[in-house]
Amino acid sequence: MNGYVINAECVLCGLCVPVCPEHCIEVIDLRYIIDSAACTECDECLRVCPVDAIHHAEETAPKED
Ligand code: SF4
Ligand code: SF4
Repeated sequence: MNGYVINAECVLCGLCVPVCPEHCIEVIDLRYIIDSAACTECDECLRVCPVDAIHHAEETAPKED
């Protein structure tokens, strides 16, 4: 389990922060960051994000093809 990451689509709405049961989403230098080590992939943040900016870490990794 690698947790989720927030990509550049994020519009800084802040909706994901209060719904995270692990309190692992924080704001650093005006960017929303998920502590992937603490993320349990509960999907609560995905459900509230209006721009679909939250993805599994593996999905956003650079492809080697
Ligand atoms: S998937 Fe769940 S635990 Fe992980 S960041 Fe989103 S709300 Fe928090
Ligand atoms: S809910 Fe989505 S757009 Fe809003 S702060 Fe979180 S990741 Fe960014």
